[in-house]
Amino acid sequence: MLKIKNLHVSVEGNEILRGLNLEINKGEVHAIMGPNGSGKSTLANVLAGKEDYEVTAGEIIYKGEDLLEMSIEDRSREGIFMAFQYPVEIPGVSMINFLKTALNANREYHEQKKMSAREILKLVREKAKLVEVDDEFLRRAVNEGFSGGEKKRNEILQMAVLGFQLAVLDETDSGLDIDALRIVSEGINQLRGEDNAFVVVTHYQRLLDHIVPDFVHVLYNGAIVKSGDKNLALELEKEGYAWIKEEAAAAS
Ligand code: ADP
Ligand code: MG
Ligand code: MG
Repeated sequence: MLKIKNLHVSVEGNEILRGLNLEINKGEVHAIMGPNGSGKSTLANVLAGKEDYEVTAGEIIYKGEDLLEMSIEDRSREGIFMAFQYPVEIPGVSMINFLKTALNANREYHEQKKMSAREILKLVREKAKLVEVDDEFLRRAVNEGFSGGEKKRNEILQMAVLGFQLAVLDETDSGLDIDALRIVSEGINQLRGEDNAFVVVTHYQRLLDHIVPDFVHVLYNGAIVKSGDKNLALELEKEGYAWIKEEAAAAS
């Protein structure tokens, strides 16, 4: 589904990612961990297609296509979901209307018949159970005055309603409280399937107790320096990153 080869990325002339390699197949959940400033959010932002990130070498292949040639809109239409894609408040636009517009725009792009308001309401109500929100929540303006937990519910609801193939969740700076942590992990667990994949950037070993990733990668100094299974996250929780830095220094 996603193949990142020797990726080098600079921001304002500073090289942040320095030869990053990562391969993600359908059905897999990958956790990305690593010390602050190692480039985790940069990786998420490059996948999202944000400006200001200059790819100086390497490639990213998504479903056999050059991702770097795809517009932000096309990435989304082709199934890439970024957790913070819609963090902005949209005053005056209710959740239900937002979902209706986004869903039908998506369907139009894929040459599928538009859904009626009634069909959409039925679908959204069904998915709303997943994140434990009611009709009142669906009538609220998107993200307006949402708590951290409600923003997370919104995100998972969007993923469930709009569908996705590759979800990239950068949870690093969001300061998840216990409630939000539970919503994210239960949401991911319910949405994970044979045909999709997740990249979860996290500082929290706790999150990984609930999600149980197939792979854990340590990003350090702009490259993935170690990969393992969920036990690697436990080891990092216990030992910190000092040994990773020593190993990386010894290898270079
Ligand atoms: P992480 O998410 O692993 O903590 P980031 O990807 O946010 O790391 O940042 C990696 C490095 O790149 C940091 O030194 C950071 O200061 C720098 N950086 C990231 N984004 C920008 C930006 N937009 N402008 C300038 N420097 C940036
Ligand atoms: Mg950071
Ligand atoms: Mg970050």
